Amino acid sequence: MYCIKCGVELSKGQTICPICETKVYHPDIEPEEVAPKYPLKPLKTEITSKHGFLAILSACFFITALFLLLADLLILGWESSHQINEWWEWWLAPLNYHIEWSHYLVGAMLVIYASLVVPSWFKKFYSVLCASMVFGSSIIYILFISWITEGWWWFLPFALPTIGFLGLITIASIIICEFLPGYRLVCIGIAFLLVSGFVIALEILINLVFKGSIYVIWSPFVAVVLFAVSVILLCCAFIPSFRASLKKLFFL
Ligand SMILES: [Zn+2]
Repeated sequence: MYCIKCGVELSKGQTICPICETKVYHPDIEPEEVAPKYPLKPLKTEITSKHGFLAILSACFFITALFLLLADLLILGWESSHQINEWWEWWLAPLNYHIEWSHYLVGAMLVIYASLVVPSWFKKFYSVLCASMVFGSSIIYILFISWITEGWWWFLPFALPTIGFLGLITIASIIICEFLPGYRLVCIGIAFLLVSGFVIALEILINLVFKGSIYVIWSPFVAVVLFAVSVILLCCAFIPSFRASLKKLFFL
């Protein structure tokens, strides 16, 4: 017996074609009750334990971080600034050890860990969590660096608003694209529009904070390109015929 639609050979008792899902019906043959030769539901192929893998990855991260801190502190951070001559002066010994560079490296490792590994622990909202962690941990890390280097003068007027603004746009876009698929084009179009304005503000901010004067050189060129992209996206979102012709043009 063969499928009337795709012609594949069918075994006895099959009621639906396994290829094209056409119903098998023959007026003279009564279908037999035979167990199907292939499983009706797809088999679960996930055999590795995700949480086990994440636990090992986390352990590797923290052991490496600890190793770096100790290596910096005990081997390279030794500096005998406090001379120990008498036995009672031994309490000064720990002051001879200090951290030189490892806190920067460990901080960067924590940013990577928070951005890539932490969201994997959760079953849902991976992309939203990932974006929140990238921007959140970056702000904390840069805050830490500015605290050590007394860089408040660039952190508060420049780094915090820049990363904060980009983070908010990115997270809002991801949430809208994920949960309101009908508004994807509008959302990405508005995001491009905001970023095109942001680029000019960014250049003004850089020149103001680091050079002390207000002027723009390169940002309008970037902004024009981003603005054009946003106009195309918004046209696509609001004019269905324009969207259809673009789809044909780019074979989408
Ligand atoms: Zn068929």
